[in-house]
Amino acid sequence: MKKKQINSSRIPVYRDAGFELYDAETASAAFAGEANPERDPEIYIYSRYRNPTVVAAEDEVMKLEKAKWALLTQSGMSAIDVAVSVFQAGRRTRPWLFFSEIYGGTISYAETILKQYRGLDVQSFSPVGERYDLKAFESVMKKLHPEFVYIEAISNPMLIVADVLSIIKIAKKHKSKVLVDNTFATPYLWRPLESGADIVIHSATKYFSGHGNVTAGVICGNDDALMKAALTYRKYIGHMISPDDAYRLHDQIQTFELRFVQQCRNASVIAALLQRSSKVKKVWFPGLKDHPTHGEAVKLFGNKGWGGMVTFDFAGKNRAEKKKRRDGFIKAVSHSIRLIPSLGDPRTILLPVESVWGAKYPEPGMLRLSAGFEDTNELAATISVALKEIS
Ligand SMILES: *Cc1c(COP(=O)(O)O)cnc(C)c1O
Repeated sequence: MKKKQINSSRIPVYRDAGFELYDAETASAAFAGEANPERDPEIYIYSRYRNPTVVAAEDEVMKLEKAKWALLTQSGMSAIDVAVSVFQAGRRTRPWLFFSEIYGGTISYAETILKQYRGLDVQSFSPVGERYDLKAFESVMKKLHPEFVYIEAISNPMLIVADVLSIIKIAKKHKSKVLVDNTFATPYLWRPLESGADIVIHSATKYFSGHGNVTAGVICGNDDALMKAALTYRKYIGHMISPDDAYRLHDQIQTFELRFVQQCRNASVIAALLQRSSKVKKVWFPGLKDHPTHGEAVKLFGNKGWGGMVTFDFAGKNRAEKKKRRDGFIKAVSHSIRLIPSLGDPRTILLPVESVWGAKYPEPGMLRLSAGFEDTNELAATISVALKEIS
């Protein structure tokens, strides 16, 4: 069939595993270019290395995070693996410091893959109560001089907001790189690279996709040497996103801000509603004045929003009563709100905290809610009715 230009305005999905190289001269030029990676060489070679549909989606992430480069991977976890593994090169003798209140999968990855399998010096920094103490952080930095500090601006599930601006300054003073998992805050609330972070990571499965139908991750930054190291690692370890997932992400990311603004609004409305109910003992939401790190949230996000996550705990005289209220609520909202272990979905979703975190948060009445972008009044009505229904 003769090749014909199609008057399409969409990005195509290039599903080539290997691209046509025409002749030996082109092949030589292509492979020579690949050895010296730049973002946009003319010739594609093999989709595990680079793929035009993937590059198009990466451009969208670069715009959002105002980054010089972005690399997509097949999951948030593989993005984390790429981000930290580039620091394993060379004479690495300094420890790696992870904040303790980060995504559970990241903690497990650090404990098993990094510490047990690779034998790396992995250290952890914990908050005091429900906030990170800057003086304690400074003294840990003085003692450890870590290669990098790994942090999330909004923690999970307690939604502790870190004073990341100060944390980055302190880390820089001690010549440590800063890696930020920005999945929860998103570039709508904060762009870590503009504040001096070195690498930003996302589980694109969450707000960037926003439709619960893509598993993907991305890392981005401004430093060329880090980009080359990350590109090399992604290529040889094979942490590459599929062209189909990249295509979906490319489209879905166009509506990221619209969706996230509505998710932030819905989360604020739900948090206020829950706080007014006598059946709810406590609500954790960075926008509430009594949240332990409301001040940090104001400093970092201004008044743009407080994220789409709300965690709350049902009141009750004992464990059985709290559990009964929690389960009653889950049932009462189940016609429109489901238990799904993810976040950033189109519809509001719930997760029972004790079932997921076990001994770390053994509260039987606790639920983590990810606000969707459905109609605010409808959502508020669903929750109000459920709160009235449960005894
Ligand atoms: C979900 C999540 C991850 C892991 O991402 P996957 O896409 O599930 O691999 C990492 N960090 C945070 C904050 C997450 O919420």
